[in-house]
Amino acid sequence: MIDHFSAACDIVQSAGRVLVFTGAGVSTESGIPDFRGPDGLWSRVDPEDFTISRYLDNPELRERGWRMHLNGELWGARSEVKPNPAHDAIAELWKAGKLSGVVTQNIDGLHQEAGIPADQVAELHGNLRRSHCVDCREDWETVEVLAWVEAGEADPRCPRCGGIVKTNTVMFGESLPRNEWTTALIMASAADAILVVGSTLGVYPAADVVLDPARRGVPMVIVNLGRTEHDHLATVKLDEKAGAVLPPLVEQVLGR
Ligand code: NAD
Ligand code: ZN
Repeated sequence: MIDHFSAACDIVQSAGRVLVFTGAGVSTESGIPDFRGPDGLWSRVDPEDFTISRYLDNPELRERGWRMHLNGELWGARSEVKPNPAHDAIAELWKAGKLSGVVTQNIDGLHQEAGIPADQVAELHGNLRRSHCVDCREDWETVEVLAWVEAGEADPRCPRCGGIVKTNTVMFGESLPRNEWTTALIMASAADAILVVGSTLGVYPAADVVLDPARRGVPMVIVNLGRTEHDHLATVKLDEKAGAVLPPLVEQVLGR
């Protein structure tokens, strides 16, 4: 029988630079629900509610969104959400000079909080820490907007122009931030191996960042609980919890 763990370690170890690509599954052990896992958000809310046109047209939807942020039911714009051992292990790889970068679909900022500099993390779907006015583009820390909500503004408006306020995250129907996308492609082209953590690889175009090189033969390790849409492209698949498997993997790779 192949030892998948050792095979995964070999791929990461023998690569000069590794691209790490993460999805919601890297953050579930920090207490942030994923979308498509068994307790995922899609079991409780309608994915259609995450389209930009609905958000702009529907004040009740915005009110519900802010209320959920305030109650910590979405992804915690607040500081009590902390990186878990999976984020820490990825940061160790970065500190050891093993990574060409981290490309994430997550909006929680936990890779940076684990110690990876912001310019080494391409956030394909934006970040929840800040919010902006969709009309005049003025922006604020999201905690500031949440304070307005807490003070009674259920659907907070821009103090300058009255426009609708939205977190700096990408909803269905919006295009990806151009800089982050370009950075992600540069990081991918500099990598000779790929490590996917906690993603179904089912959201596009984000997943193409790793699927294109994998199809061209760049070795790809997938660490994900449950199946992904592209397990057949993985050189090695570890069907395990990221927080349990990444720390020993990184320890082995770095020879500690
Ligand atoms: P997804 O929800 O489609 O899939 C996550 C995958 O991770 C699932 O297969 C799940 O079984 C697996 N998983 C859950 N816990 C795990 C663990 N501890 N270890 C290993 N695997 C685990 O997530 P996705 O592919 O990232 O796509 C969903 C979209 O939702 C993304 O675009 C992202 O922007 C957004 N999102 C972000 C956050 C966040 O910022 N933390 C949370 C939820 C959703
Ligand atoms: Zn405004």
